[in-house]
Amino acid sequence: MGSAYDEERERPPYKGGRHFEEVKDFFGGRCCYCGIAFGRTTPAVQDHLIPMNKADLGLHAWGNVVPACQPCNAKKQRADWRDFIIERAGSDAGERHARVKAFLEQYRYQPSFDLRDVAEELYEEVGSIAMTLISTKIKRLRDKL
Ligand SMILES: [Zn+2]
Repeated sequence: MGSAYDEERERPPYKGGRHFEEVKDFFGGRCCYCGIAFGRTTPAVQDHLIPMNKADLGLHAWGNVVPACQPCNAKKQRADWRDFIIERAGSDAGERHARVKAFLEQYRYQPSFDLRDVAEELYEEVGSIAMTLISTKIKRLRDKL
Protein backbone atom coordinates (compact mmCIF):
# COMPACT_ATOMS: atom_id res chain seq x y z
CA MET A 1 0.00 0.00 0.00
CA GLY A 2 2.75 2.47 0.94
CA SER A 3 4.89 1.71 -2.10
CA ALA A 4 1.85 1.94 -4.40
CA TYR A 5 1.14 5.39 -3.00
CA ASP A 6 4.81 6.38 -3.51
CA GLU A 7 4.66 5.26 -7.14
CA GLU A 8 1.42 7.14 -7.65
CA ARG A 9 3.34 10.27 -6.62
CA GLU A 10 6.18 9.29 -8.97
CA ARG A 11 8.67 8.47 -6.22
CA PRO A 12 10.70 5.31 -5.68
CA PRO A 13 9.14 3.22 -2.89
CA TYR A 14 10.36 4.56 0.46
CA LYS A 15 13.06 2.19 1.71
CA GLY A 16 14.74 3.93 4.63
CA GLY A 17 18.56 4.08 4.37
CA ARG A 18 19.50 6.97 2.10
CA HIS A 19 15.82 7.85 1.82
CA PHE A 20 15.80 8.35 5.59
CA GLU A 21 18.94 10.49 5.25
CA GLU A 22 17.03 12.76 2.87
CA VAL A 23 14.14 12.97 5.33
CA LYS A 24 16.51 13.73 8.23
CA ASP A 25 18.10 16.50 6.16
CA PHE A 26 14.69 18.03 5.56
CA PHE A 27 14.32 18.37 9.33
CA GLY A 28 17.85 19.75 9.72
CA GLY A 29 19.07 16.62 11.50
CA ARG A 30 16.61 17.16 14.33
CA CYS A 31 13.69 15.29 15.89
CA CYS A 32 10.58 16.51 14.09
CA TYR A 33 8.67 16.63 17.39
CA CYS A 34 10.92 18.03 20.12
CA GLY A 35 13.68 19.46 17.90
CA ILE A 36 16.64 17.80 19.63
CA ALA A 37 19.71 17.47 17.36
CA PHE A 38 20.67 13.92 16.42
CA GLY A 39 24.12 12.69 17.30
CA ARG A 40 25.99 9.70 18.68
CA THR A 41 24.04 9.67 21.92
CA THR A 42 20.76 10.78 20.29
CA PRO A 43 20.14 8.45 17.33
CA ALA A 44 17.30 9.12 14.90
CA VAL A 45 14.57 6.54 14.52
CA GLN A 46 11.91 6.33 11.83
CA ASP A 47 8.51 7.29 13.16
CA HIS A 48 5.15 7.38 11.38
CA LEU A 49 3.51 10.78 11.57
CA ILE A 50 0.11 9.17 11.04
CA PRO A 51 0.24 5.86 12.92
CA MET A 52 0.07 2.67 10.88
CA ASN A 53 -3.01 0.90 12.18
CA LYS A 54 -6.50 0.08 10.96
CA ALA A 55 -8.04 3.20 12.45
CA ASP A 56 -5.46 5.82 11.45
CA LEU A 57 -4.37 4.29 8.11
CA GLY A 58 -0.87 5.77 8.05
CA LEU A 59 1.46 4.41 5.39
CA HIS A 60 5.12 3.47 5.35
CA ALA A 61 5.69 5.94 2.55
CA TRP A 62 7.36 9.23 1.62
CA GLY A 63 5.86 12.00 3.71
CA ASN A 64 4.70 9.81 6.57
CA VAL A 65 8.08 8.57 7.79
CA VAL A 66 9.68 11.25 9.95
CA PRO A 67 12.84 11.40 12.06
CA ALA A 68 12.24 11.18 15.80
CA CYS A 69 14.42 10.80 18.86
CA GLN A 70 13.88 7.58 20.82
CA PRO A 71 11.97 9.19 23.72
CA CYS A 72 9.52 10.88 21.32
CA ASN A 73 9.13 7.69 19.30
CA ALA A 74 8.36 5.72 22.48
CA LYS A 75 5.89 8.30 23.81
CA LYS A 76 3.93 9.26 20.73
CA GLN A 77 1.87 6.08 20.29
CA ARG A 78 -1.44 7.09 18.69
CA ALA A 79 -1.27 10.79 19.60
CA ASP A 80 -2.09 13.29 16.88
CA TRP A 81 1.21 14.79 15.69
CA ARG A 82 -0.06 18.36 16.16
CA ASP A 83 -0.94 17.75 19.81
CA PHE A 84 2.23 15.75 20.37
CA ILE A 85 4.41 18.58 19.05
CA ILE A 86 2.73 21.03 21.45
CA GLU A 87 3.46 18.61 24.29
CA ARG A 88 7.09 18.00 23.27
CA ALA A 89 8.29 21.27 21.70
CA GLY A 90 6.76 23.81 24.09
CA SER A 91 7.37 27.33 22.80
CA ASP A 92 8.94 25.97 19.60
CA ALA A 93 5.70 24.17 18.67
CA GLY A 94 4.72 26.75 16.02
CA GLU A 95 8.03 26.38 14.20
CA ARG A 96 7.90 22.55 14.38
CA HIS A 97 4.31 22.53 13.13
CA ALA A 98 5.35 24.68 10.16
CA ARG A 99 8.24 22.34 9.35
CA VAL A 100 6.02 19.24 9.36
CA LYS A 101 3.41 21.03 7.23
CA ALA A 102 6.14 21.99 4.75
CA PHE A 103 7.28 18.34 4.76
CA LEU A 104 3.76 17.06 4.01
CA GLU A 105 3.47 19.57 1.17
CA GLN A 106 6.90 18.77 -0.26
CA TYR A 107 6.14 15.04 -0.39
CA ARG A 108 2.44 15.54 -1.14
CA TYR A 109 1.38 13.19 1.60
CA GLN A 110 -2.42 13.35 1.85
CA PRO A 111 -3.63 9.81 1.33
CA SER A 112 -6.89 9.97 3.30
CA PHE A 113 -8.99 10.92 0.28
CA ASP A 114 -7.05 8.60 -1.99
CA LEU A 115 -7.49 5.72 0.44
CA ARG A 116 -11.20 6.34 0.64
CA ASP A 117 -11.38 6.33 -3.16
CA VAL A 118 -9.37 3.11 -3.37
CA ALA A 119 -11.62 1.47 -0.77
CA GLU A 120 -14.73 2.55 -2.67
CA GLU A 121 -13.28 1.33 -5.96
CA LEU A 122 -12.35 -2.03 -4.41
CA TYR A 123 -15.79 -2.36 -2.92
CA GLU A 124 -17.37 -1.71 -6.31
CA GLU A 125 -15.01 -4.13 -8.07
CA VAL A 126 -15.48 -6.87 -5.51
CA GLY A 127 -19.20 -6.17 -5.61
CA SER A 128 -19.44 -6.63 -9.37
CA ILE A 129 -17.18 -9.72 -9.31
CA ALA A 130 -19.34 -11.20 -6.57
CA MET A 131 -22.49 -10.43 -8.58
CA THR A 132 -20.97 -12.09 -11.69
CA LEU A 133 -20.09 -15.21 -9.67
CA ILE A 134 -23.54 -15.33 -8.11
CA SER A 135 -25.38 -14.99 -11.43
CA THR A 136 -23.07 -17.60 -13.07
CA LYS A 137 -23.84 -20.01 -10.26
CA ILE A 138 -27.56 -19.36 -10.50
CA LYS A 139 -27.43 -19.91 -14.28
CA ARG A 140 -25.57 -23.23 -13.79
CA LEU A 141 -28.10 -24.39 -11.23
CA ARG A 142 -30.95 -23.45 -13.57
CA ASP A 143 -29.31 -25.32 -16.46
CA LYS A 144 -29.17 -28.43 -14.27
CA LEU A 145 -32.87 -28.34 -13.53
ZN1 LIG B 1 12.15 14.14 20.15
